[in-house]
Amino acid sequence: MEEIKTKKCRVCGEEKELDAFVNHKGCKFGKDTLCKECRQIYLKSSPNVHKSDSGKKYYENNKEKHKIGGKKWYEKNRDKILSDEKIRREEKRRE
Ligand SMILES: [Zn+2]
Repeated sequence: MEEIKTKKCRVCGEEKELDAFVNHKGCKFGKDTLCKECRQIYLKSSPNVHKSDSGKKYYENNKEKHKIGGKKWYEKNRDKILSDEKIRREEKRRE
């Protein structure tokens, strides 16, 4: 008797065989919580977000905050960022 192990995709909610999920170290079953199909869609729609489910949740909850916060943060730290980049570039040149 062969035991078919299935896992429910957290995005589409479908029960799928474990083969339909990407291997993911650190997850409960060593598998990603979203199926390959949903993962593709997810990766395409949000390429800049952490490639994990918690990252997605975080992103959805903080989407607006993130946008505003990121801009404000950049404006606040622009001089530092630019000077850091300059230093980095100069250090690279020296190598
Ligand atoms: Zn799915």
